[in-house]
Amino acid sequence: MTALQTTSVGSLPKPDYLLHARAKAAKGGLKRGELRALEERATEDWIRFQEDIGIDILVDGEQYRGDMATYFAENLEGMEVSGLVRSYGNRYYKKPVIVGELARAKAISVGWFRFARKRTQKPVKGMITGPYTMMDWSFDEHYGSREEAALAFARLLHEEARDLEAAGAAIIQVDEPALATRSDELPLVVKAVGIVTKGLQAKTILHTCYGNYEDIYSYFNRLPVDQLDLEMSNSSLDLLDRFRRDPLKKEIAFGVVDVHSHVIETKAQVVERIEKALRIFDPQKLYIDPDCGLKTRSVDEAKEKLEVMVRAVHAVKAEHGIA
Ligand SMILES: [Zn+2]
Repeated sequence: MTALQTTSVGSLPKPDYLLHARAKAAKGGLKRGELRALEERATEDWIRFQEDIGIDILVDGEQYRGDMATYFAENLEGMEVSGLVRSYGNRYYKKPVIVGELARAKAISVGWFRFARKRTQKPVKGMITGPYTMMDWSFDEHYGSREEAALAFARLLHEEARDLEAAGAAIIQVDEPALATRSDELPLVVKAVGIVTKGLQAKTILHTCYGNYEDIYSYFNRLPVDQLDLEMSNSSLDLLDRFRRDPLKKEIAFGVVDVHSHVIETKAQVVERIEKALRIFDPQKLYIDPDCGLKTRSVDEAKEKLEVMVRAVHAVKAEHGIA
């Protein structure tokens, strides 16, 4: 059995050449194929980097995505994408709009999953933007019911998960950053995510962030996934007492570096966070990763944060005699 495996949440920053190319492509100054070649180069570079520093479970880095919700929206029938809308703080994104019956004409994320998987011997996570977040971040001009819209997304995303599995994904992550938006809708999150993960052989993960976990804690064991991936360091590890009182019956991916800060954590800081987690969780069920996707950091900051994370895990394993 392996213990304290390292991974990333999903997104990694785009290198400057890709940011420039995307801006040029948006103005019609670059052919689709030329942009695609640069997205492939950036994806390969990130795969190589994750392998070089010894991360155990890789991500493709989402170099081809603008925003996690719009990327899925652009690839679904029944959806359009609006102009820029303000989200958290000063971040802007294009808001998806549901304009008709949702349908999935083709697989969305499977092509890039295959691309990444072919380039490494290590496991690569399949990544799905969750049904509740897709619903919550979209304007609905068709269903007129948050539940109906979320469940419609869930059925299509289940097909997507099946396709990822068929393409060899042994691990599938459902991203639900909107999970804690409304605590009265947590039963809907459980229902919708349950439709996505139903009958899958792959290990399933639910990632969430931005949450007041205290309010949603009682739902953690009810979420129909094998692993929870949580932002922990940005919440000053407040949640650990709660886990001690009311144990989690799942695996946990424990965020140990803050993705919102330019400051690179020291190895000692990260070691301390892992040690605190080890007092509560079985090391075989404890995965170590950043709090969230690293796409808002610079390439160098993201690399340094991942490197210090891996070095800290090595130190903790040596200290505890974990292979
Ligand atoms: Zn996140």
